[in-house]
Amino acid sequence: MSLNKIGIIGGGQLGMMLCEEAKLLGAKTIVLDPSEDAPAFKIADEHICATFDDFDALEDLCKRADVITYEFENVRSDFLIKLENKYNIKQGFKPLFDGQDRIREKTNANLHGLKTAKFFDVTTKEDALNAIKELGYPCLYKTRTLGYDGHGQVLLKSSDDIKNLDPFLGGPGIIEEFIKFDYEASIVMVSDGKNVISFPISRNIHKHGILDLSIVPAGMKKDVEDRMVKAAKQFMLDCKYLGILAIEFFIKDDEFYFNEMAPRPHNSGHYTIEGCNTNQFRELDRYLLDLPLEEPKLLYPTVMKNILGQDVPDVLKYRAFPNAYVHMYGKSEVRHNRKMGHITFTNMDEDKYNKLVSEAL
Ligand code: AMP
Repeated sequence: MSLNKIGIIGGGQLGMMLCEEAKLLGAKTIVLDPSEDAPAFKIADEHICATFDDFDALEDLCKRADVITYEFENVRSDFLIKLENKYNIKQGFKPLFDGQDRIREKTNANLHGLKTAKFFDVTTKEDALNAIKELGYPCLYKTRTLGYDGHGQVLLKSSDDIKNLDPFLGGPGIIEEFIKFDYEASIVMVSDGKNVISFPISRNIHKHGILDLSIVPAGMKKDVEDRMVKAAKQFMLDCKYLGILAIEFFIKDDEFYFNEMAPRPHNSGHYTIEGCNTNQFRELDRYLLDLPLEEPKLLYPTVMKNILGQDVPDVLKYRAFPNAYVHMYGKSEVRHNRKMGHITFTNMDEDKYNKLVSEAL
């Protein structure tokens, strides 16, 4: 049977861009999201407005699509396991489940050859003090689940900061080694189980814990880059993850540390839409539709900038740049630090790229 209709759990910007690329493949989409004005609803052929913990609505989505994926990371894995037995959830529940808890995620990375910062399981104050004793200052507390963009994190610089853990203690958390990294970089891969394709690595610059810029080429040492790509691909194959996987790394000297992973398109991969011959959304769609994967190549030096609520007035300025591609997500409520869109600067000559990048760094 040829697959033609993709069901997506989650209708944010990632779902929206998956729908846009699906259309370019002549495929249909149906999206489930709790918000009436979810960005993807404007592009999808059909939608279901329901919460992510509404099992019947999720099952309805599965029935109405040929193949299912997710862009929302906190879908209940017990629901996904049940649905996976009956419907074509092609990536399965496993990569989502493994990434939903930081201890499980980092333990799994270590087991499959990827080094992480040292970490300790922390629930009580006593656990926290023991972890700090092992690691010294600075170190970092993170909630084990539901953390994103630096939410649920406490930087512990000295014993004065321990009181800042109070709102979190009692719940599941970790304290991890603070890596004084040189920079952050990420890789997006798509696997059909035999072949893993990977997009060029991007160097990521965060502002207040939120991705601000992705810069490609990442300017890594060739040897470190080669080792990182090889290890990431091997990790994906060994874990038998299918479909898309993004991994964020910290790079320090010649060492790279796995920080976290996401089995969905990634913000740092948005640059691929204009910067590469194929993009992360298209390749995930191709995987979902049983089409052969295409090996990605960088076409031009490219920089992607996120447009947060406070950056919206600057969009007019940015779009005057040549080869600037503005993607607005159509979110009706503009909020501080909310991702409202992104802009990709590409097809730059080397001088312009170097100037933009040196200003950014
Ligand atoms: P995360 O939620 O784990 O992606 O962390 C958000 C941001 O906090 C990262 O992008 C890093 O800039 C910073 N960060 C997280 N973990 C560490 C660490 N172990 N050492 C230093 N910085 C970190």
